[in-house]
Formats: sequence, C-alpha cells, structure tokens
Amino acid sequence: MKITFLGTGTSQGVPLIGCDCAVCCSDDPRDKRFRCSILVEGPSGTILVDTTPDLRSQALRVGLKRVDAVLMTHGHADHLMGFDDLRRLSDPKTDEIPIYANGMTLDILARVFFYLFNGQNRYRGYVHPVPHLIEEPLELCGLRIVPLPVPHGKVETWGYRFEEGGVPKFAYISDAKEIPQQTRHLVQGIPVLVLDGLRPESHPTHLSLPEAVQTAREVEAQEVYFTHLTHYLPHAATEASLPQGMHLAYDTLTLDL
Ligand SMILES: [Zn+2]
Ligand SMILES: [Zn+2]
Ligand SMILES: [Zn+2]
Repeated sequence: MKITFLGTGTSQGVPLIGCDCAVCCSDDPRDKRFRCSILVEGPSGTILVDTTPDLRSQALRVGLKRVDAVLMTHGHADHLMGFDDLRRLSDPKTDEIPIYANGMTLDILARVFFYLFNGQNRYRGYVHPVPHLIEEPLELCGLRIVPLPVPHGKVETWGYRFEEGGVPKFAYISDAKEIPQQTRHLVQGIPVLVLDGLRPESHPTHLSLPEAVQTAREVEAQEVYFTHLTHYLPHAATEASLPQGMHLAYDTLTLDL
C-alpha cells in the first residue's frame, strides 16, 4: 500500500490569506500546506480520503486521474468542499464514484451538495456519488478498513485503520481532540500512525503537538507523522525538535508500507 499526503494543513491552509509571518512567507516547500487529505493506493485500486477545497490543485499536482472510492472522515468544510471536483475523478463510463462515510457526514454532504444527491442531475460527465453508510469494518481496493471514532467538536468524526493481508499497517486520524479509550486498542502498536498535531498551544477540538506526541507514545506507534498543521509550526525547526520516530508530514510526502 502506498500513502500520498495531498494536504497537511489546517482548515485555512498555509500560508494563510493576508499573513506575513515567517512560516507563511517561508521558501521551504514543506511550509506550503493544502487542506488535509491523503491518497491510499491499495492492491486493487485507489482511495481518496476527504475532498478538500484544494482537491483540484492537489489532483493536478500529483497527476491524479482516477479514484475508485472516497472515504470521508467528517463533515467540516475543510474536508468536503472540493467534493464537486470528483467529476474528473469518477468512472468515465458511468460518472459514478462510491462515497463511504458515517451517518452525519453523509447527511451533511447531501445537504451541501443537494444537486448531486437528489437524483435530478443526470447530465453526462457530472459526478454521480453513490453513498455507502459505514457501520462496521469494510473491504475497499484490496484493503480492510476499520473506522476509528474520535471526539472532535460537535461532528461525528472518524479516523481509519488500514490493513493489508490481515495485518494492520497504518492509521489516519487527522482531526481529533484525543484517541479515546474505545479506539485506543485499535491503534496500539500500529506500525505507522498519522495524527492531528495542530499547533504548539492547546485547542478545544484538536490535539496540540505536545498532546499528539504524548498520545503517540501512549499507543506505542512505531512511526508517527503529524498533520493538520497551522502556520505556528515551521517545518524544519519543528521536525528537528521531535522525538525519534516522529515527523511532521508535508504535502506530497509518500510512504510505501
Ligand atoms: Zn480539519
Ligand atoms: Zn502566517
Ligand atoms: Zn474538523
């Protein structure tokens, strides 16, 4: 399985509009962060996790042409507002693309993009989402995917654990205030953990970077990449300050697992 970070930024992206801080003005490409999403290439297809407002630019940047399934973490704007751009990534014959999400996220999608879900839009070449409610672990593109419910403000939010050949390889938790007890055993000792590490200071609905480091230690993840990053985290200096085995993710980083 191959992971590509399409975006590693917080909800406003980095640089922020109108900000002159050192990170927003940095020449380091790793300080340019699109909104948070990843691509997961499994043995029999490609899964896009979240459709950010930057989806078009993200797809062009990595040469993405087709997606076999979309997996959504939750219904916040920074994770879904690029949904309309799926029209270029869906099945060219049927325009269909399967969307997997929890109940609240499917409800939000159907409200925000009512014209895609109300059954009236049948123009050729326009995306035709096929919603699937996730109620238990599922198989997609040759991978087994286990939902990881996490607290994150008022919306039902899930991370996901990805298994290949019956072996848990990777967990993705982009937006979370913590990894709660009922989810912890599912990521205990995971080879690779991608975790929300928003900023140095604490936040009501996200893990701060120090909290994320502590959480990653507690679950004994072997390799950790922090994501959903603000402009308070310069890449080079922050990376150098992290414990061994822990890293800041950056846009276009790929992991072969
Ligand atoms: Zn977010
Ligand atoms: Zn800034
Ligand atoms: Zn969120």
